Amino acid sequence: MVDISRGSTLGGSGASELFQLLRDGSPRTRAELAAKTGVARSTIALRVEELMSLGLVSPVEDAQSTGGRPSSQFALNASAKFVLAADLGATHATIAVSNLGGAIVGETMGSIDIADGPPVVLNWLVKTARALLKKHGLLMTDILAVGIGLPGPVEHSSGRPINPPIMPGWDQFDVAGFVREQLDVPVLVDNDVNIMALGEQAFGWPKTDNLLFVKVGTGIGAGVISGGRLLRGAQGIAGDIGHVQIARGAGVACHCGNRGCLEALASGPAIARTLSAAGLDVDGSSAVVDLVKHGNIEAIQAVRQAGRDLGEVLTACVSLMNPSVIAVGGSMAAVGDHLIAGVREIIYTRSMPLATSKLTIVQSAAGVNAAVLGAGILAIHHALSPEGIDRMTA
Ligand SMILES: [Zn+2]
Repeated sequence: MVDISRGSTLGGSGASELFQLLRDGSPRTRAELAAKTGVARSTIALRVEELMSLGLVSPVEDAQSTGGRPSSQFALNASAKFVLAADLGATHATIAVSNLGGAIVGETMGSIDIADGPPVVLNWLVKTARALLKKHGLLMTDILAVGIGLPGPVEHSSGRPINPPIMPGWDQFDVAGFVREQLDVPVLVDNDVNIMALGEQAFGWPKTDNLLFVKVGTGIGAGVISGGRLLRGAQGIAGDIGHVQIARGAGVACHCGNRGCLEALASGPAIARTLSAAGLDVDGSSAVVDLVKHGNIEAIQAVRQAGRDLGEVLTACVSLMNPSVIAVGGSMAAVGDHLIAGVREIIYTRSMPLATSKLTIVQSAAGVNAAVLGAGILAIHHALSPEGIDRMTA
């Protein structure tokens, strides 16, 4: 069970506001809810009844209850409804059904080519999602929302990709509108790193309000959770750290047109190029991972240096954000501690002591599931927000 209570915005009224307190899945009594909200117990009882009639809340067995007394505790009924989650990559995709607790109840993986363009890829998504629901005995009426992660920049408010470098034909395409047309539920779209940050937090760090998720793979990017909220910034590209210049980068050309970018030196393909130039037989990121796992000293040194490069940029992020967790994921995280060691080396020596006194720098806990878990969380946050609950009670 992952914690999906984050990201709620108190501000709805009546039952929807009360529901925000029950979203974390912990059982509570009417008295506890009354004390927490300052609302009369009789009003709480009515609102609990309303949520129970929607199926969103159900009675929970009392631990100390004796002799057939009705339960006095209530909690989220995670299986009342479901959401669809999609993680679309350049060549692979995962479609999942998650319950309202964020747990994946079923998933399908497939090969796609994102360059086939939106109609082909999104029609595949819809068809695969319908087949998945059927397999698990669910109907579209069981689904509250769809969350989709894309491998490029997305304007979150409109659900449209903006100049995505590896997604020809997707620029400004109305992804949310296209999928909504076919599935008839709200559709939320975000970039893959943001949803990975949501998935990582819910799965590995439910009590952490300030977390930086760093994806290191073909590209480098970060998802920022600050004060318990995903930080998107004005245009949705907050955390796009791959094209920050680093000291070692002078003169090294980057595909963005600039020189000296972090991504041009520390991404998987960049490390592979370095090793290849040194005479090793390396054709890409996965070959680098293999070499490191086999103890190749040059590969280990190159990965450690990439970690230091990453640490240089993340030191600035630490000063700005003061996170308590930095989780490193993406395909290059599979090299294990060597990359993290480089990151720690720089951040711990270059940051102010107070900023690092309680800072944890680790490999992603959610691992390969971070994105699809996060796409589910994105959909749940929307569906179970006060506005979402108000729509259901209307
Ligand atoms: Zn660049």
